[in-house]
Amino acid sequence: MTNARQLILVVEDEATIAETILYALQTEGFAPVWTSTGREALAALAAQAVALAVLDVGLPDMSGFDVCREAQKRTPVPVIFLTARSSEVDRIVGLELGADDYLAKPFSPRELTARVRAVLRRTNGREPAAPDHRTAWQHDEARCLIRYRGHALDLARNEYRLMTVLLRSPGRVFSREQLMAAAWEDPGSATDRTVDAHIKLLRAKLRDVAPLSDPLVTHRGMGYSLREEI
Ligand code: CA
Repeated sequence: MTNARQLILVVEDEATIAETILYALQTEGFAPVWTSTGREALAALAAQAVALAVLDVGLPDMSGFDVCREAQKRTPVPVIFLTARSSEVDRIVGLELGADDYLAKPFSPRELTARVRAVLRRTNGREPAAPDHRTAWQHDEARCLIRYRGHALDLARNEYRLMTVLLRSPGRVFSREQLMAAAWEDPGSATDRTVDAHIKLLRAKLRDVAPLSDPLVTHRGMGYSLREEI
């Protein structure tokens, strides 16, 4: 078992509780990783193949519910919620967040590891939560839907058409004229600035998905290209 240690993400802002959980998971042969904020948790989920997340509902920067919702959009992962209030239990059940189980505080470490094992057994057949960089882009042409890093983009018509042109030839530099001709039904109505403005909007939407990536490349005096991602 030791060479197949599964990564368990523990998101808990109370250090003493986190320590107890980490110790219990380690003892049971898991590889636990600890973050104390929601933002760190989402970054960890994007960067590593996490087998399961133990997620406290009350976090300092965002609620565990929001973390779960974001995580399921990008890199789906089995979740066990930790709750401090019974009102939170109603929300876990009612919101259909995709949570697999929950534990009310205080709980015994043994109870937690038993739940972790049970959820992992149940979810074994599910898609593994691998880092999503391998397929940065997915284009469902029938639905006019483009996903970036697993996240469906909400694009206006011209943004969608512009993105479609760029996606067909990653790395190729398109002039503004070429982009206008390809993406606008009436290219005469668009100007260079129109293209620039749409690229700016697209960049903002892509940043929402992956703040540190900038897949649209500006080539001074020439135009734009889509960065070739693996
Ligand atoms: Ca807390």
